[in-house]
Amino acid sequence: MIPYGRQDISQDDIDAVIATLTSDFLTQGPAVPAFEAVVADHCGVRHAVAVNSATSALHIACLALGVGPGDVVWTSPITFVASANCALYCGADVDFVDIDDRTWNMCPQKLAAKLEQAKGIGKLPKVVVPVHLCGQSCDMAAIGTLAKTYGFKIIEDASHAIGAEYAGAPVGKCTHSDIAVFSFHPVKIITTAEGGLCTTNDAALARSMQLFRSHGITRDGSEMTHASDGPWYYQQVALGLNYRITDIQAALGLSQMSRLGQFVARRREIAARYEDKLKDSGLQLPTLIEDAASSWHLYVIRVQSELRRRLFEGLRKADIGVNVHYIPVPSQPHYRNLGHDPALYPAAAKYYAEAISIPVYASMTEKDVDYVAAQILRLLDQLR
Ligand SMILES: *Cc1c(COP(=O)(O)O)cnc(C)c1O
Repeated sequence: MIPYGRQDISQDDIDAVIATLTSDFLTQGPAVPAFEAVVADHCGVRHAVAVNSATSALHIACLALGVGPGDVVWTSPITFVASANCALYCGADVDFVDIDDRTWNMCPQKLAAKLEQAKGIGKLPKVVVPVHLCGQSCDMAAIGTLAKTYGFKIIEDASHAIGAEYAGAPVGKCTHSDIAVFSFHPVKIITTAEGGLCTTNDAALARSMQLFRSHGITRDGSEMTHASDGPWYYQQVALGLNYRITDIQAALGLSQMSRLGQFVARRREIAARYEDKLKDSGLQLPTLIEDAASSWHLYVIRVQSELRRRLFEGLRKADIGVNVHYIPVPSQPHYRNLGHDPALYPAAAKYYAEAISIPVYASMTEKDVDYVAAQILRLLDQLR
């Protein structure tokens, strides 16, 4: 089976993990800050806070921005559930902004219209979470301008997009956002097995996220309510969690970061090869916006909804591990029970009826790419 995504682990990665296992620290040692520094340097951003997953990263990002009961957080309906769940964890409500038919990312025009409506009824969002679907940045300049006009904060869900660029800068630089979040799950661009990371240029937000990552506990006297009782002393100043990443994971992440450029370059080659082989197939292929260079976490094709299921099954039968990213979040039973109605997002519904994610990962061979493309063309011929 050719999977839709998989990690690429080198001997250097293995050696880095083993070196950590035999060192003094399995967690809270030097590898975590070293990993954070390398990611911050790559992004050209001031601060990076690594945690045990992107789900945790989204949660502490919301906490640091003060999301709580009575607040509303908006995200895209076409995303993994974690982009929305982070608001529910904080006791806030979630709402969705429909996608653009071409980029499949949150549509800035629909966002603007929804903001104007929300302003009228006094229900503006506290935070908007744009998701860089498949690794292509959202139109962050437009969303950033709206943030200034309507006074909301922005958390970029860049889980798919480490190594991607927007307007000539790395995604994660936070030029138009308060915080950006990456995922290092094995199917993503680089991996720490499980892991995530927040970037920000705001020192106070970074410190706040560090506290929420580890129980809300500080050993810094300047953050305490009274003078320290002694060298053993710490204070819990907020209700934090244990979202720490281990040194073992960070060592793997550090080693993987040295190949980020290679991984993304290879994914771009694969995407270009698919584009070339499938451009006359009648499928809707990914549309790239001018300002963005995708990291190609996913390669999604869209086929008429009547054919989607049979094409999907045919590809699975041909040993190709296709998938669908994503089922619209408002259609999930948990969200329907909260009163959400997926019919409010017609572009998302149409996308969901047509989308198939085909394999793309750094170690995928040319032969595999050609096989996948040939099977798609063969099945389309049969089905049409
Ligand atoms: C993978 C993913 C997440 C969650 O990442 P984890 O590291 O598995 O918690 C969040 N948002 C999006 C868009 C993702 O693809």
